[in-house]
Amino acid sequence: MEKRDYYEVLGVDKNASAEEIKKAYRKKAIQYHPDKNPGDKTAEEKFKEAAEAYEVLSDPQKRQRYDQFGHAGMSGAGGFSGGGMNMEDIFSHFGDIFGGHFGGFGGFGGFGGSSRSQRVRKGSDLRVKVKLTLEEIANGVEKKIKVKKIIACPDCQGTGAAHNSGTETCSNCHGTGRVTRIQRTILGDMQTQSECPVCGGDGKIIKDKCPHCNGEGVIRGEEVISIKIPAGVMEGMQLQMSGKGNAARRGGINGDLLILIEEEPHAELIRDENNLIYNLLLSVPTATLGGQVEVPTINGKAKVTIAPGTQPGKILRLRGKGLPSVNGYGTGDQLINIGVYIPEKLNKEEKKLMEELSNSPNVAPSTSNKSNFFSRMKNMF
Ligand SMILES: [Zn+2]
Ligand SMILES: [Zn+2]
Repeated sequence: MEKRDYYEVLGVDKNASAEEIKKAYRKKAIQYHPDKNPGDKTAEEKFKEAAEAYEVLSDPQKRQRYDQFGHAGMSGAGGFSGGGMNMEDIFSHFGDIFGGHFGGFGGFGGFGGSSRSQRVRKGSDLRVKVKLTLEEIANGVEKKIKVKKIIACPDCQGTGAAHNSGTETCSNCHGTGRVTRIQRTILGDMQTQSECPVCGGDGKIIKDKCPHCNGEGVIRGEEVISIKIPAGVMEGMQLQMSGKGNAARRGGINGDLLILIEEEPHAELIRDENNLIYNLLLSVPTATLGGQVEVPTINGKAKVTIAPGTQPGKILRLRGKGLPSVNGYGTGDQLINIGVYIPEKLNKEEKKLMEELSNSPNVAPSTSNKSNFFSRMKNMF
């Protein structure tokens, strides 16, 4: 059969813009879609013809070659295969064509969405847990993990066919992967579509199955995956790496890898969103006289000055010493929650010193406990 001119097929002029070509193809694809023309061979041919024309005219390089050499320029190295497109290829491009442009598509009786989702197989998602220390969360980390998963068969590159034996179009469904049945009901003729039982919805039948994967195109295997974890993630968060999940049968799209974050508790620091809390116990003399103390932070130690007369319950703030926010907006603080250690056991001398102290006028609270409490509250905020 003589091939028609691609511009003629889409009904556009030779100088048509990319947008005009896309629009024209969209129109043809809807007009001749197999779901709308079940069992109509002519419509199917037109559908494929339009897809082939679009495949060439939507690619600037192929279009230029076609303009220069006509159909003769389309076969051979790097060119179009010439053998006609298979339906799977056609449907796999629909995302680009219809994506976003067709808000009201649901009214089309399941066209688009349903046919596409059945045509292009997607592997299942894979879930892994990753345990992180607070230090790793503070700085971000790259984790390499070995994941057991379904991978594309290396012998047949996921095609399921042995030694490039290739495929032939399924004669039961003529390559659509679906069969239509018409049922008479009291409401009239009902048309139902289902997956073709002969080819399992592929539209193609493998001539000679790959022995390694028994024609499935996938095998059980494992992969070492490098996961970049951004700083500031939290327990229970889930990261997603698209395409790193299980492979799909016979060259479908890989599923996604979902990474669940688990946080290991830190020995000294407590996380509160992006702030870190450290409970610091001062001795009675240090709280009274003041001094310098060392506290742990997420990145090493820090020296903190204690003012004379520091009350328990006071909170000191180390600005920017908390965790970075996961969306990159700012960094939390480290809060030092001050307590005072009251000795539980004293030797004779210590006891004597305390007794002497207790008689001193400044040791007992000078005002009521109430005012003391409020002054502490003021320090907290
Ligand atoms: Zn194989
Ligand atoms: Zn079939």
